[in-house]
Amino acid sequence: MTRALITGITGQDGSFLAEFLLDKGYQVIGLVRRDSWFRHNNASHLEGKIELLFGDMSEGVDIAAAVHDAEPDEIYNLASQSRPGESWSRAPETLLVNGLGAVRLFEAVRHNRPACRVYHASSSEMYGRVDVVPQHEGTPFNPINPYAAAKTYAHQMARIYRESYGLFISSGVLFNHESERRPLHFLPQKVAYGAACAALGITDSRATNEMGRPIVERGKLALGNLDIARDWGYAGDFVRAMWLMLQHDKPGEFVIGTGKLHSLRDLCEVAYGAVGLDWQASVVSDAGLFRPLESSQTLADPTKAKRELGWEPSVGFEDMVKRMVAAQIAGLRSLNK
Ligand code: NAP
Repeated sequence: MTRALITGITGQDGSFLAEFLLDKGYQVIGLVRRDSWFRHNNASHLEGKIELLFGDMSEGVDIAAAVHDAEPDEIYNLASQSRPGESWSRAPETLLVNGLGAVRLFEAVRHNRPACRVYHASSSEMYGRVDVVPQHEGTPFNPINPYAAAKTYAHQMARIYRESYGLFISSGVLFNHESERRPLHFLPQKVAYGAACAALGITDSRATNEMGRPIVERGKLALGNLDIARDWGYAGDFVRAMWLMLQHDKPGEFVIGTGKLHSLRDLCEVAYGAVGLDWQASVVSDAGLFRPLESSQTLADPTKAKRELGWEPSVGFEDMVKRMVAAQIAGLRSLNK
């Protein structure tokens, strides 16, 4: 039975990936922070189906022990401080987990498990302020926040370890991907939540935003810059790409995205439209929620992934947003039961 170690298994991608690998007959081992496991998380429903190793990606000994004890054939390194906006106030931790954590993992593989195949979670945030649209594997990086800088460091180190030691490390430069499991502070989920509140007539939400205010306050959803646009895909599709990278005959770097750009306005229109409402009556733009520096319009060119991996997304933008709104409505209804 193939053994896969997943770091970040309690996260959105980790939980989708664990389900995907279990379906394929893998033995799945998750590296998790002890406290995270004992509260409800995205992988709670997998208890009994997966093995657990407790550890923290900011601790080198925990990483080395996990690689040794899991005896993995494949490793998916998904753990990270994954909020670009928050990385401004948590810059040292972001570098420790997202940057040094990855390098410590590569070192552990080099010494203990050199035949193991490794997927590393890079990010389209590395492109930052771009001159070239769309972005492909050869597009230069220009990170503009601590999260993106740490991801760029780990991405370069993955290449260096691959080329210097012959390790099978593939990096997925993933563009934004969302789902029903995305935390509320990410924009599409926040919009889905806002639309769900509007549909249910909730004018002051229990959930709060980055400024500690209700996400929906007096019937309004406050967002930052409505002109930003992103290439948003569905997380379930993206974890399939991770697996395909490790089944490929050679390691490398792969851009994964839909190749379609949607603005935050489009997102609001689809989400509120899904419940028969006009978003403009409920959404306001608040300058206090703008990022210090905003990434340019990053758009994926996934040609290589399609050609070499046969990967294509299956869930479209509208379908994804509608699923998220429906899940938020179900969640809010169950809270009020
Ligand atoms: P997520 O839901 O925020 O999950 C992050 C995971 O990392 C959680 O399981 C979290 O565990 C774990 N983690 C954080 N700090 C840790 C630490 N010190 N030690 C051990 N585990 C730690 O993120 P995601 O959306 O699934 O993303 C997965 C990966 O893809 C991340 O590396 C992210 O940066 C990258 N990525 C995501 C996107 C996207 O759009 N989703 C795009 C590009 C790249 P806890 O439960 O303990 O917090």
